[in-house]
Amino acid sequence: MSNSPISNPARREGMLYVVSAASGAGKTSLLRALVERQPRIVLSVSYTTRPPRPGERDGVDYHFVDRRTFAAMGLREEWLESAEVFGNKYGTSAACVDALRAEGRDVVLEIDWQGAKMVRERVPETRSIFILPPSLEVLRSRLEGRGTDSPQAISRRLAAARNETLHWREYDYIVINAEFAPALTALERIFAGQGEPWRRGRPGLGDFIARLLAAGGVNA
Ligand code: 5GP
Repeated sequence: MSNSPISNPARREGMLYVVSAASGAGKTSLLRALVERQPRIVLSVSYTTRPPRPGERDGVDYHFVDRRTFAAMGLREEWLESAEVFGNKYGTSAACVDALRAEGRDVVLEIDWQGAKMVRERVPETRSIFILPPSLEVLRSRLEGRGTDSPQAISRRLAAARNETLHWREYDYIVINAEFAPALTALERIFAGQGEPWRRGRPGLGDFIARLLAAGGVNA
């Protein structure tokens, strides 16, 4: 490859980012807008045993595989991380991520908190971002507006969203997606290395998240 770091020593290896969110927080739309504006950034395509939703394309949204194929990849130690979410398996191919980073691309993994934990352990320089909705009511109406899930599935997703949010402290950066444009700007700043990790001080953040979780009957 002419553009590999070996033939072009000046090219730096791409960064690795993990992005998690309460489902319905707007993560996917924000990340799609981000990669459209910043061609250096690429979204990793995960493998999953979940069936495709209407409109989802194999190889674009996910690599849709059966449980046998997924298990075989695990036996061959091909996963950078993998997890079970809502009863389905999800995993990130280590070889795909390595190849993209070697080309100098910044790679984004849209994964859950369990996967994020594994990636942080294996790749300590990973930057991790958690995206929050402004309220649980907004989250519910976004999930309902998607029209892809049954009422039972929406309740399950809301409960899972709360559980996912309990892990917010494990992430470097917190983005609250109240309005699309400012949330996108906040993300762009983080990817430009100008973001402020929440640990450096973000008054009111802990209280905000405690209220968000309390609205759903969970203690932070
Ligand atoms: P969905 O099925 O709605 O696309 O995703 C369900 C959940 O699985 C989301 O929290 C998403 O971030 C997570 N997820 C998607 N791909 C992966 C993956 O490769 N690894 C892990 N650990 N989680 C993933």
